[in-house]
Amino acid sequence: PSALDRDQMQGLRGIREFLKVRTSYDVLPLSFRLIVLDTELLIRKSLNILIQNGIVSAPLWDSTNSTFAGLLTSTDYINVIQYYCQFPDEIDQVDKFRLSSLRDIERAIGVLPLETVSVHPMRPLYEACRRMLKTRARRIPLVDVDDETGREMVVSVITQYRILKFIAVNNEKHTILLRKPVREIGLGTYTNLATADMNNSVLDVIHLMVKHNISAVPIIDSENKVLNVFEAVDVIPCIKGGAYDELTSSVGEALSKRADDFPGIYTCSEDDRLDAIFETIRKSRVHRLIVVDDDNRLKGIISLSDILKHVLLFGAEDDNIRAG
Ligand code: ADP
Repeated sequence: PSALDRDQMQGLRGIREFLKVRTSYDVLPLSFRLIVLDTELLIRKSLNILIQNGIVSAPLWDSTNSTFAGLLTSTDYINVIQYYCQFPDEIDQVDKFRLSSLRDIERAIGVLPLETVSVHPMRPLYEACRRMLKTRARRIPLVDVDDETGREMVVSVITQYRILKFIAVNNEKHTILLRKPVREIGLGTYTNLATADMNNSVLDVIHLMVKHNISAVPIIDSENKVLNVFEAVDVIPCIKGGAYDELTSSVGEALSKRADDFPGIYTCSEDDRLDAIFETIRKSRVHRLIVVDDDNRLKGIISLSDILKHVLLFGAEDDNIRAG
């Protein structure tokens, strides 16, 4: 192996060691807020709460049984939209759905319920990462048990982005070793990309995301140039106020509804190196990188799960995979 390869492996091993000696708790800021929604809440109202608070997900609490009831995410809203598409006559019903109906909606549209994985905040961060990759969860709730009552308690939720940022901020001596370009380490997806254009309807794009099990679709023009990216979280403002019939409007229109503080989309080239990507993660709230050529033409997509997978698993057969 070249010096570049050796450094890359050394950097990755360094990060893996780091993830094993830190806990999920370490990722949390000193003070933070946690918005937990009661499962009795109307789905319609939950949308407003997320939007008003500038969040895209929240843990659910079943107050009848005093238990943690899973995580509400944009996937749940996409399920409601699918339900609406399959049973358009039941729009009045949809308006009355509570968060406790989410499991019934999954059953009605025939999707498998997402496994509610959680981790204890004091377990190694490495474990949270492995569990996220295994279940394809993009965020994972930290659940502890209250000493006095013996009841479950949601401490916080950590996302792939938070973990990668935590790595980027605390591991510069390892991330600077990751000098291999994206092209050489095969980071991301470059074939069978799901894309749409500005005139496609929001529903078209949602169906693409469901079909491919992805959380973002690049919006391109007739020359394959990247204009924008429609993300799963973009459906939230689209259905605010129960405006399901507006889902037939164009992606272009929907994207104009983004919050003013939308951080924008991030692009990179196939020649960019992983150290540069970590630098971007350290500085900005990236949710994925769109890989483009010099003319801004779409080449591929690097999701945060692709990066996390590389960090944890690349060349790790001999290290720890068999053990883990
Ligand atoms: P994440 O799990 O980080 O939210 P995604 O669900 O979007 O990311 O991505 C899951 C996998 O699908 C990744 O390997 C990613 O490279 C790939 N992918 C993401 N978006 C697309 C797309 N529009 N077309 C094809 N593949 C995609």
